[in-house]
Amino acid sequence: VMDDAVIQFDHVTKQYGKVKAVDDLSFEVRRGEICGFLGPNGAGKTTSLRMLLGLVRPTTGRIRIHGIDVNEDTSSALAGVGAIIEESHFYPYLTGEQNLRQVLRLRGLSTSTEVIGARLAEVGLREVANRRVKGYSLGMRQRLALALAMLQEPDILVLDEPMNGLDPAAMREFRLHLQRLQQSGVTILLSSHILSEVEQLATRMVFINHGRAVGMEETHHDRSVEVLVRARDEAA
Ligand code: ATP
Repeated sequence: VMDDAVIQFDHVTKQYGKVKAVDDLSFEVRRGEICGFLGPNGAGKTTSLRMLLGLVRPTTGRIRIHGIDVNEDTSSALAGVGAIIEESHFYPYLTGEQNLRQVLRLRGLSTSTEVIGARLAEVGLREVANRRVKGYSLGMRQRLALALAMLQEPDILVLDEPMNGLDPAAMREFRLHLQRLQQSGVTILLSSHILSEVEQLATRMVFINHGRAVGMEETHHDRSVEVLVRARDEAA
């Protein structure tokens, strides 16, 4: 049970004309891990994550989530997946709290004000929840996006360069939130082109360049994750 692969890339290739954006990529992410997905600009990270989310179809190969092929049964595969894959656009003249309520309503979710408030507090936005998003820093907007993703109660979070443009303090804070999410049992796939952004956080790192995996590493954090996941399973 411990080595449950929740995300599996199996010889995945995406070809755009003559360009192989992703080239025979295979890797797995296991339950409860934070997997760093690292590579320079243009390496194929975004294309890989878009395929994982069913937004782009692989040319060849398969991607499975909880064993379900994303292209065969997209809605089942993605049922428990939350994502931040581009800079989040919020309504500037609504408050943080109003933005979350509005977006959740548009998605047909009736989330209580208490739950929204609790999530905002968790990402450190309690004090500014009633301020217009127009005045939020980039870091605050990224944490608002994280709160929004979490309100959909995912067990997997897919984040494409969520720390891009954050100052060091905001980056540190964002990382702490990801760590807390991991401790609550969420599996996280996190792309970045900056190793130091993710290496202390990640339990696994997948390095890609020119669409190909050029290295994989399991870090020492791995065992503590197993202990956490096991403790949670035993408590359930
Ligand atoms: P970045 O950090 O800049 O987002 P990335 O690692 O996410 O980079 P991708 O955006 O996946 O990289 O791009 C990988 C390669 O595929 C690049 O050479 C890119 O130009 C090419 N590419 C991506 N999408 C398309 C597309 N829709 N049509 C043609 N080529 C594409």
